[in-house]
Amino acid sequence: MGAVDHETPVYLHQLPVPGEDRYASLALVNTRFTVSHGLVDLLEDAEAAHLWLVRHALLPDRVALNGRHSGRLRALREALRALFEARAAGTEPLAEALDTLNAALAAAPATPRLAWAADGPRRAAVPDTGNPAAAALSLLAEDATDLLTGADADQLSECAAQGCARWFLRSHGARRWCTTKCGNRVRAARAYAARKAGSP
Ligand SMILES: [Zn+2]
Repeated sequence: MGAVDHETPVYLHQLPVPGEDRYASLALVNTRFTVSHGLVDLLEDAEAAHLWLVRHALLPDRVALNGRHSGRLRALREALRALFEARAAGTEPLAEALDTLNAALAAAPATPRLAWAADGPRRAAVPDTGNPAAAALSLLAEDATDLLTGADADQLSECAAQGCARWFLRSHGARRWCTTKCGNRVRAARAYAARKAGSP
């Protein structure tokens, strides 16, 4: 048995992006990004989209996903990206992006419940089990709504590394890159450019 698994998907080698652990909607936007050898789309087909949703505990493994569902998930991703861009730029998004998010919210909203455990009452949400694929999209749209309307929205930033296209939550004001990998890549490129400019 070899120690290296050549079948391991490329994204398992990616460093965690700040905010993805707290917001599934941010992780969704980051399923499309660029690496040195080209564009990566973690939702490129129904099978890949199914795997992503199951990994993020948004869909039971036994529920199949068809091409229409994965197409809707990709459409929601592009709408969220447009909404993040508008929030970061302080502009109004295209009505189409807003409509896509609102349609996902309305398709299969979770039912709010008051749960009462030993530690007291808390708010819970029961997903629409009759429509699991739409329920997953509703949960992602709700997560994005929470992110865009909450205090964390001020920290929403697009990675400044050229071509990266990932979004993250800035832990401090000066942070410009999604990961140290992107930061190092930019610094190396700058150093190379400076050396070239300085050479006779
Ligand atoms: Zn980056």
